Amino acid sequence: MEFACIDCGEKYPPREPRWRCVCGGPLEVAPNAIFSRESLAKRPATLWRYREAIPIEDDTNVVTMDEGMTPLVPLAFGGAEILCKLDFLFPTGSFKDRGATVLMSKMKEWGLAQVLMDSSGNAAAAVAAYAARAGIECDIYAPASTSPAKCAQITAYGANLHKIPGPRAASTAVAMEAAKERFYASHFWNPWFNHGTKTWAFEVWEQLGFKAPDAVVAPAGHGSALLGAYLGFSELLRAGYIDELPKIFAAQAARCAPMVRMWEENLGTVPEITPEDTIAEGISIAAPVRWKQMREAVRESGGGFVAVQDETIPPLLRAFGAKGVLMEPTSAVPFAALALLKEQGKVKQSDSVVVPVTGHGLKAADKLEKLMGD
Ligand SMILES: *Cc1c(COP(=O)(O)O)cnc(C)c1O
Ligand SMILES: [Zn+2]
Repeated sequence: MEFACIDCGEKYPPREPRWRCVCGGPLEVAPNAIFSRESLAKRPATLWRYREAIPIEDDTNVVTMDEGMTPLVPLAFGGAEILCKLDFLFPTGSFKDRGATVLMSKMKEWGLAQVLMDSSGNAAAAVAAYAARAGIECDIYAPASTSPAKCAQITAYGANLHKIPGPRAASTAVAMEAAKERFYASHFWNPWFNHGTKTWAFEVWEQLGFKAPDAVVAPAGHGSALLGAYLGFSELLRAGYIDELPKIFAAQAARCAPMVRMWEENLGTVPEITPEDTIAEGISIAAPVRWKQMREAVRESGGGFVAVQDETIPPLLRAFGAKGVLMEPTSAVPFAALALLKEQGKVKQSDSVVVPVTGHGLKAADKLEKLMGD
């Protein structure tokens, strides 16, 4: 297993706690194993069924609640059927548990007793829950505007919650300062997290009868759903388990869409933007750390980045509610993007399309109540 910087290539021993390169670049891990297709049938229906591909060395360090293998449900959308991966069906109510179970297993493997991180809410709730399972003390830095349900979760799991006034980036700044004293268990800096989120791709492949779909559309802030799709499907491709990557499309809120701007204007680096408030709080990320990987993932798969207006979200929340699926506003963003992609002909009506439903509606009950009233 290689643990190396994606900017300068410097390698590090995977047994030593480290969250970024000395050059300031983000790290990545490359597991050198994959499961055999035949072995899967006999394994429990949890994401740990893909054990060989998950970069935790010792089974005794695995911190789990038997999470994963979420339903893949066909729903009518825009005149065609799409497959919704109900990834809000996790212990903490969002797909972030996929990453947190692996990240906190690594923190345990590294023997850490205390960690801290910053998040807009869901990653924090997930890390707080799995830290509690691991017996690791956890400090969380989140924007003061974070949904009350997410704050309640973080506190209930026993983490110390610090509410930071100002935009999302202010929480990161305070956390990075505190990280001089304690390990920074950031879900976007530590690469282990995305080696958990990649299991959504493995599950989709199994659920489709060992096939990849034609396209996936994921919401993207720091890119853990997006990069998870890319890592998962590329590992399947490398193993010869699929013939081609699905097209990977990444959806951002137009009010905070640095990746879309970089993509559309063909910029060499992610631009500095001034984010505006968006109801898609889960992807309100102005300066994504893994922008290079996100761009490569989308480019290599033949997908694209798409911006979505806030106004398109409430009608979608209502439409999905009417089908029995209650999602938080952020999770509606890829559906709005899919509608645009179909208009532009980038996704065909006959394509098999998978969209992850990333967060439970109850996470943002206060915001939903207001939106539904409009
Ligand atoms: C975190 C989150 C996302 C996006 O994850 P990123 O890693 O920031 O791209 C999408 N939806 C919900 C509900 C989230 O909590
Ligand atoms: Zn480096």
